[in-house]
This record gives sequence, structure tokens and C-alpha cells, in this order.
Amino acid sequence: MTPLLDIIRCEIEQKGPMDIGTYMKFCLMHPEYGYYTNRDPLGKAGDFITAPEISQLFGEIIAVWAIQCWLKLGAPAKWSMIECGPGRGTLMHDLLRAAKVAPAFLDGMSLFLLEGSPVLIEAQKRKLNRYGPQWISSLSDLSHEFTDGPVLIIGNEFLDVLPIRQFQKTPEGWKERAVLFEEEKLVLGLKESSMPKNTLLCKAGHNAQLYDIFEYSEEVLIFWKGVLELIRERNGAALFVDYGYTRQGFGDTFQAVHQHQYSSVLSHQGSSDLTAHVNFASLAEEAKKAGCEVMGPVTQNDFLTEMGIFLRAEKLKVNASVQEKEEIDLALDRLTGEKEMGTLFKVIGVESCS
Ligand code: SAH
Repeated sequence: MTPLLDIIRCEIEQKGPMDIGTYMKFCLMHPEYGYYTNRDPLGKAGDFITAPEISQLFGEIIAVWAIQCWLKLGAPAKWSMIECGPGRGTLMHDLLRAAKVAPAFLDGMSLFLLEGSPVLIEAQKRKLNRYGPQWISSLSDLSHEFTDGPVLIIGNEFLDVLPIRQFQKTPEGWKERAVLFEEEKLVLGLKESSMPKNTLLCKAGHNAQLYDIFEYSEEVLIFWKGVLELIRERNGAALFVDYGYTRQGFGDTFQAVHQHQYSSVLSHQGSSDLTAHVNFASLAEEAKKAGCEVMGPVTQNDFLTEMGIFLRAEKLKVNASVQEKEEIDLALDRLTGEKEMGTLFKVIGVESCS
């Protein structure tokens, strides 16, 4: 038994069945054995590859979005860029390199990186130290150290690692899906729901069929409200890209990836990535309620195409070798292709209205 599995077993023995969100937190962010705290999981040698690790084009296109927003905000002399879950810092590195075309954009920027992994903070330092980044552990940290001025907030594959909870409709009513320890191993089961019935019905709707699973992430919603509050308070915009769906429905999207393969959510604790798809419908709804202007959610393909990724790729190819041209085409397909990341991934942009 690994140390992390033992810690989870003890916790279940003391407190009873563990909700999925708590299990995710242990597996991903346990200070010593968590997946993100003990390794750099990205890239070919790791467990999964993200869009910025596929091609520089991704960060360059986000640069186009960021510069457009900055201009729309009146090209402020002082402003802040915040990236949530920057991984190896590749997206920001490509973004800021591309932004050299707008020196005033770079000159006035303070860079904040919201990151919980000590290993990845080291990787980010290596890539981004020249921009004088400051690390934060929550958006609320900003209120103390912030200079005045607008904010741009971005995040790629950040929301999908935030904890979710799952509820299932059973003949005895709604129950919560939970992790149990039985016969010397972890199993998925059900426990009495700690979410009041009315709240559940209101969130899940009345049209659930027997055994439907309803996913809900309080953490995503709280985080998102923080994003909206910040851009309204300071003026600004945010852009988030992730696996996700645009209509609330039922289903189980909780998944594990280990060494580039899907694996059981109950194995490889601390050495597999656990994620759930993001409910973009609720992000859009909250943003509208907060009085923000909302772009999307749209598919990653639509966003990248609209922002000019194909034109940029043609430009890159002008001085490229035959092999490099092939690599650019391959990367384009991975980022925009229907069977690749093009439709599974969604993008939402929000702007303060003033
Ligand atoms: N955006 C990067 C990395 C995505 S992986 C890319 O596209 O390549 C998820 C990132 O979120 C990692 O940097 C991970 O360490 C960070 N992360 C996960 N949970 C977090 C939390 N609770 N608080 C802060 N950062 C977190």
C-alpha cells in the first residue's frame, strides 16, 4: 500500500465514506504525495500533453486575445496578468514572447501566477523569471499586493482539476457517490447526501431518470465568482479553456489519466491525473448574472480559427523546413481537429462592461 493510499484509508476509517471532491484533493494536492505536488506531469515523459505543450501557436493566439483586451481597456499603463495553473509556464512564455510587438503591453504588466505545485513553480521560474512573476495561492491574495489597474486572467486546463462532487438518483432518493474502503481496497459506493434535497433538485432539475449521475463543483463556482468579482472591481477580462460541456446534463465525467492512458480513478493515487469536465453553461450563466459581457462558450477550434491560428501557422511555415512544416500541420490538427482537442475543449471569455 502506498503512503497516500494509507492516508486515504485512515481518513475513511475515521470519518466514513469520502466524497469525490475530498478524494480528488488528497490525490492531486496532498502536500507530500499529491499528484501535482510531487512531480511535473506534463509532456511526453509525463502523463498528458496540454495545448501549449503541443505548439507555440496556442500561446501566441492567446496573446492576440490579451492584446485586444488590453487595447479595449484603453491600453492602461499599469495592469496585471494572472495565469491560473500555469504548468511549466509554456503558455505564458509563448504569449509574452509574441507580445513583444506591443512593448507598452509588456512594460506596464505585473505578472501573477496562481500555482499550488512547488515542482511546477520551479519550472515556471526557469521560463518566466525575466518577467518578475509573483506567485499567489488564491485570487484573494491579490488584494494586498496588487497595484491598481485592470486585470487579465487566463487558465488552460485549470478548472478541470478542481474538486467535484457527484450525486446519484436512487429509488431511495438522491445519494452522494463516495469512495469506500472495503476488503482491503478502495471502491466506489454511495453515502447519504450532505447537500440538501431542495438544493439538489433545484440544481439537477426534476427530469433526472433513476440512476442518473449529477456532477457539481462548488469549488469551480467559488473560484469563478472570484474571477468575475476581480474583473468587475478592477476592470478587465478573463479567458478559460478546458474540457467541458455547454449544457447541463447528467453523466459521469470523473476520469483518471496515467502515462497517457485512461485508468481507474481508484488506482495510482498521487501518480495519475484526476479531472472532470467543466460545466461551461453555469460559468456563462454566472458571468451574465454578474453583468459581464460573455464570449462563448465556443469550441477550441472555433476560438482558435476566429483568432487567426491558420494564418499564423502559414506565416510560421514560410521559413520552416519540410519536417517543421509537417510538425506545424500536425500540431494544428491536434489543437483544432474534431477528433482531437477541437470540439471537446471549450473556451469562455468574459469582460467587464464598464
Ligand atoms: N495550464 C498548464 C497546466 C495545466 S495542469 C498547461 O496548459 O499546460 C493544471 C495546473 O493547475 C498545474 O499547474 C497544477 O499544478 C495547477 N493546480 C492544480 N490544482 C491547483 C490548485 N488547487 N491550486 C493551484 N494550482 C493548481
